[in-house]
Amino acid sequence: MALPVVAIIGRPNVGKSTLVNRLTGMMDAIVHDEPGVTRDRTYREAFWRDRDFMVVDTGGLVFDDDTEFLPLIREQAMLALAESCAAIMVVDGKEGPNASDEAIAMWLRQQSVPVLLAVNKCESVDQGLMQASEFWTLGLGEPYAVSGIHGNGTGELLDELVNHLPTTDILEERGEIRVAIVGRPNVGKSSLLNAFVGESRAIVSPISGTTRDTIDMMVERGEQRYRLIDTAGIRKKKQVEYGPEFFGINRAFKAIRRADVVLLVIDALDGVTEQDQKLAGRIAEDGRACVVVVNKWDAVEKDAYTIYEYDKQMKDRLHFTDWAETVYVSAMTGQRVEKILDLVDTAAEQHKRRVTTAVINEVIGEALSWHTPPTTRQGRQGRIYYGTQVTSQPPTIALFINDPKLFGDTFRRYMEGQFRKHLGFTGTPLKILWRGKKIREVERSPNRAVKVKTNATLSSR
Ligand code: GDP
Ligand code: GDP
Repeated sequence: MALPVVAIIGRPNVGKSTLVNRLTGMMDAIVHDEPGVTRDRTYREAFWRDRDFMVVDTGGLVFDDDTEFLPLIREQAMLALAESCAAIMVVDGKEGPNASDEAIAMWLRQQSVPVLLAVNKCESVDQGLMQASEFWTLGLGEPYAVSGIHGNGTGELLDELVNHLPTTDILEERGEIRVAIVGRPNVGKSSLLNAFVGESRAIVSPISGTTRDTIDMMVERGEQRYRLIDTAGIRKKKQVEYGPEFFGINRAFKAIRRADVVLLVIDALDGVTEQDQKLAGRIAEDGRACVVVVNKWDAVEKDAYTIYEYDKQMKDRLHFTDWAETVYVSAMTGQRVEKILDLVDTAAEQHKRRVTTAVINEVIGEALSWHTPPTTRQGRQGRIYYGTQVTSQPPTIALFINDPKLFGDTFRRYMEGQFRKHLGFTGTPLKILWRGKKIREVERSPNRAVKVKTNATLSSR
C-alpha cells in the first residue's frame, strides 16, 4: 500500500534537511537516494502516533534569481507537490521573512494542498514565539515555532500534520498493481524501468520492499498506481559488489511470487530461449498474470511476415503463458512502451475477475452440447454436474464431476479452451479443478478420523 507523501519546501539554508532528519528520526535507516530515478528528490519514511507517511525534501527553492539550475529545482518542487497530500514550508526564524519566502508562499497559496508553516531555528524559549509571529505576513496561517536541531515544537507541527493525511481506507480503495519485470540479463529490463519512470506523467518514489535490498518503486499513471517490484534487483547490477546471486533466477522467482502481473521481457534479437521458458513456467505455476514484452523491436529487420512469425514463436515456445498478450516494444525509442501499462491494467483486472455460477454453467452446457465427455469401453461416461468459480487471483473454477479418471487431457483442454473462448480471462492463468465424488470423500475422511478420535478422548474421561 502506498504511503501518503508530505513535501518539505523552502529556500536554501533554512534547515529543511535538519528538520527532515528530525521528523524521520529512527526511521532514517530506510533511506533511498537514487539520483536520476527519483528525479533527485529524497524520500524518507516517517511516522507520528499511529500514522505512517513519506517525507520528500524538495531541495532549496528559489524564485527570484534565474540561474541555470533553478527552473529544474522548481520543477522538482512542483512534481513533489503534485503527489503530496500536504506540504510543510520551512522558514528561518532567526533571519525573519524575506522576499524569497514571500515568493514561495505566494506560489504555495495557489496550490491545492494544505500548507503548514514551520518557523525553524526557534530554539530560544523567550524569543521563539515572537520570531514565529513575524511570519503571519506570509498568509499561510499559524506559524509553528520549531527547532530542527533541538526538536522543540515539532510535536505540535506533527499533530496538525496528521490531520491532513488521508485515512488508510481511501488509500486502500485506490489499490495498486504489483508488477515484476523479469527476463534474462541484457534483455532491457532496466531500460524499460527507466522508460516507465521517464514518462512525463509518472511519479516515482522508491519505497522499501520486504527486505533492505529489495526496493520497490511506485509509478503512477492517471488514477492507477503501480508498484514495480524489486527494482534494486534490476538496477544495481552496474555496481560491482553484487554477486551473481543478486541477479539470479531465484531473485526473479521471488519477484514473480510477489507480483500481480509479471512482465516477461524477451530479447527480439535472440528470440525465446530456454531460460525464458523456465520463467514462463514459473509464472503459470504461481498463478500470476503476465504480459510478454518483446523488446529491441527497433533492431529487428522486418518484412510483411515478421510479426506473424514472432507471434507464432511466442505461442509455440511460450506455451505455458500462451494466454498472455504479447507487445513488441523498444525501450530505446519508446515505441509502444505506453501500451505495456494498458495491458498490465487489463491483465490485473482479469486476474481479479469473478464470474457468476450461472454464467459458468451456461458455458458448461454449451460446451457439452458440442462435445460429450468421453465414454470408457465398459460404457461409463464422464459427467459434469455443475461448476462454480471458487476463487480469483488467479481465477479458479471447480467442476464437480463423477470421476476424474473419465476425463482425459484432450477433454480437459477442450473445456479450458471453452472457458477462455466464452469468458476471456486474457492475460491471466485459469485454473480448473476437477472434483470427483471420490476425491471429495477422500478429502473429508481426515476430518472424520479426527472427530472419531475426539469422541474417544472425551468418552475415556
Ligand atoms: P536546508 O538547506 O534548508 O536543507 O538547510 P540545512 O538543514 O542544511 O541547515 C542549514 C543550516 O541551518 C545548517 O548550518 C544547520 O546547522 C542550521 N540549522 C538547521 N536547523 C537549525 C535549528 O533548528 N536551529 C539552528 N540554530 N540552526 C539550524
Ligand atoms: P537488463 O540487463 O535486462 O536490465 O538490460 P539493459 O536495460 O541494461 O539493456 C541491455 C542492453 O540492451 C543495453 O546495451 C541497452 O542499451 C540495450 N537495449 C535495451 N533496450 C533496447 C531497445 O529497445 N533497443 C535496442 N536496440 N537496444 C536496447
